[in-house]
Amino acid sequence: MSQQTPLPGSIETLDALVIGAGFHGLYQLYRLRERGFRVRVLEAGGDLGGIWWWNCYPGARVDSHVPNYEYSLETLWRDWHWSERFPGWDELRRYFHHVDAKLDLSRDVRLNTRVTAARFDPASDHWLVETQGGGRLRTRFLIPCTGFAAKAYVPDFPGLDTFEGDCHHTAHWPQAGVPLAGRRVGVIGTGASGVQVIQEAAKEAAQVTVFQRTPMLALPMRQRRYTITEQLAMKRDYPEQFERRRTTQSSYCDIVADPRSALEVSDAERRQRFDDAWQKGGFHFWAGTFSDVLMSLEANRLAYDYWRDQTRARIHDPSVADILAPMEPPHPFGAKRPSLEQGYYECFNQPNVALVDLRADPIKTVTATGVQTAAAHHDLDVLVLATGFDASTGGLTAIDLRGRSGRSLKQAWADGVKTHLGMAIPDFPNLLMLYGPQSPTAFCNGPTCAELQGDWVVECLEHLRQHGVTRLEATGEAADVWGRHIDEIEARTLLGQADSWYMGANIPGKRRQLLYHPGVQEYLAMCRDSAARGYAGFTLSAAGASA
Ligand code: FAD
Repeated sequence: MSQQTPLPGSIETLDALVIGAGFHGLYQLYRLRERGFRVRVLEAGGDLGGIWWWNCYPGARVDSHVPNYEYSLETLWRDWHWSERFPGWDELRRYFHHVDAKLDLSRDVRLNTRVTAARFDPASDHWLVETQGGGRLRTRFLIPCTGFAAKAYVPDFPGLDTFEGDCHHTAHWPQAGVPLAGRRVGVIGTGASGVQVIQEAAKEAAQVTVFQRTPMLALPMRQRRYTITEQLAMKRDYPEQFERRRTTQSSYCDIVADPRSALEVSDAERRQRFDDAWQKGGFHFWAGTFSDVLMSLEANRLAYDYWRDQTRARIHDPSVADILAPMEPPHPFGAKRPSLEQGYYECFNQPNVALVDLRADPIKTVTATGVQTAAAHHDLDVLVLATGFDASTGGLTAIDLRGRSGRSLKQAWADGVKTHLGMAIPDFPNLLMLYGPQSPTAFCNGPTCAELQGDWVVECLEHLRQHGVTRLEATGEAADVWGRHIDEIEARTLLGQADSWYMGANIPGKRRQLLYHPGVQEYLAMCRDSAARGYAGFTLSAAGASA
């Protein structure tokens, strides 16, 4: 695997430079190279796999069930067999090695190479890119595939740097692991990563103290192991299933909501639908019940009450149940992404698991030996920061990106994200980001988005090449229209009624809807429409000519 950076002074010139070797970046590499583009991937991490290289904390696994979370290329799925319905990080890493072996990707990937800066040169219509090690590259197109979770977020807990035990953010978990057995483990945060760590830690730690701010309305995963025979049988339907995941609103091949309102069916029919989705597990209860659960508070309340009753029945202590699954919804059900759990609620019935409700008993300070809340000191050997991400934009603004006018992306987005189609940014020509803000991103499962949005980008670059276009830039007007469209969609849903990372609400000062909700099909129709109209919303020009 190639790990060298170019020698200072020798500048390699590319057609396309991709940042990030996760699902999106690797798909770009494969497709663009297939078309004869000179393309490279720079990756900050130590191996392929994107978030699955970084997130190796105990219990880290997908919430997309097989076969949704994999590429749809037959050459890849034909002889790859998953061992579990919801694979874990280690199996996903092996999958990426399989992809690499099949598609011969890593000869064009430079690992351990962080892009620190990139500046657009209007005279040549190229980006000049710098890496942490002093490497430099020149590229016509810059394709950030930095994912939504490239920048971990840690709230400013006083005293955090004084803690003398092991302290790790879940996304920066040591590759060698951290022993939890027999130790006192504190977990701050009950988002997806928090839930996964807590379940694992509860099996072996002497004590697990869970610091919860907002209850996670988690759903049963219904994990199970697959035999090779089962996998082979499942594969008979793969082509059809991959086709379906491209067309459902959920982007899952088998999760489709009843188009009717939850309010217009009989109680018995609704109950049956809820029961079925609950038994199927995974995201079925989130995205596969009724079409208006995320649109109507009344319909949403029915889903919440079902979830609450199912969940409370699993928790022995009613005062603990009030914190984990309150009688009144803390926010509309599903307006925050639900985690999938495997025995999460039963953990709180164990004598070695304690719950601290940070709304009632906030953290005052972290000390050398633990966490001091208003009411008590909690002695800890390990402190797990499951505090999430500066999602979607954080990985992009961490790079000193300078557009045509020399203004940085951070400055350009100081008053909020501005994009056209969630892929292009005014004043930042020849930059097309994937899985970024204001596109379906976390509302489309990763590999599906990598292929669908990814193919649009490949076709776009092909079009520009064929027409001798050297500069493509989104117009400010198009970005304004897109921003208003995102806001209008949000106003029609309940999404804005939760302080979620979808809204950037976990980051002080960031709150605005970051994702495109109506589904990848509707989104792609607009992208394709722009392309069909000669890339409406963009200006196209040839080398050196002004846009
Ligand atoms: P990533 O996989 O995030 O890869 C981005 C890469 O860019 C990283 O390797 C990073 O190191 C690199 N990078 C960033 N900045 C730089 C830089 N400046 N220089 C060089 N390299 C850089 N999605 C689903 O659809 N289903 C799931 O079940 C699911 N589970 C998830 C579980 C966890 C724990 C997390 C964190 C996310 C999960 N996601 C899931 C979302 C997940 O991000 C996507 O599925 C998928 O990984 C996106 O792929 P990507 O290529 O866009 O980005």
